[in-house]
Amino acid sequence: GGQTAPTQFEENSLSEVKHVIAVLSGKGGVGKSFVTGALAIELSRRGHTVGILDADITGPSIPKMMGMSGKRASGLGKLLLPEISATGIKVMSSNLLLERETDPVLWRGPVIAGAIRQFWSDTSWGPLDYLLVDMPPGTGDVALTVFQSLPVDGIVVVTSPQDLVSMIVAKAVNMAEKMHVPILGIIENMSYITCPDCGRKIEVFGQSNLDEVAAGYGLKVLGRLPIDPALAAACDDGTIESALPMGLLPEALAVCEAVEV
Ligand code: ADP
Repeated sequence: GGQTAPTQFEENSLSEVKHVIAVLSGKGGVGKSFVTGALAIELSRRGHTVGILDADITGPSIPKMMGMSGKRASGLGKLLLPEISATGIKVMSSNLLLERETDPVLWRGPVIAGAIRQFWSDTSWGPLDYLLVDMPPGTGDVALTVFQSLPVDGIVVVTSPQDLVSMIVAKAVNMAEKMHVPILGIIENMSYITCPDCGRKIEVFGQSNLDEVAAGYGLKVLGRLPIDPALAAACDDGTIESALPMGLLPEALAVCEAVEV
């Protein structure tokens, strides 16, 4: 791997965030935000205090999913106050700062980087067991900004069967090594559909090679999620907190709970 200078993170003195977990994907649309939300909801259901830092600045989808459409983050002096969901999950997102949530975010790289830093150091998160970071899609410069701006403890990679899985996993592994952050494992989203009549699992995109790829890098597969139109609808109308089935991602929860400071 390449050489990366040790990073000095800005102190977020007003908060006490125990674990930061980044959720990464190779491209947009594979369900990274959905998985981030699902992990947050499940961790919260297990009694942890949870926040979501939406670092997907130009494609923010967490607030809508969490029922925060039309909400605007308030400020306290120079601090931003996160919006709090129906079940108590704290969220900071560029979407909460726009005048109209349909406004496109056309910020340039340095402004995006500044926003991500602010979402960490100028947001009054308070005490949190877990801060989940919905990463910008891909493994490019914006993603690097996140790792240089906040102390990420572990990475969860989200893939879909349509992805070039081996390439995405290779890039994620590379980035993780450079940043000295462990990959906790991989979740495959939109893995199959369940036949509504007979309950059989149908792998629409054919059988995935995720197991072989993951094994090649010594990474764990932390679960497979079906394409579920009910979940897509719940994300759309902001009711995912109540619609998400219980115990959807047991292996992923177990690795999150095993993360040491
Ligand atoms: P990303 O963050 O990777 O861009 P999103 O999480 O925003 O992707 O998901 C893209 C779209 O697909 C959203 O409309 C979301 O509700 C939907 N979606 C994601 N995962 C699933 C799933 N397992 N079943 C059905 N719809 C899903």
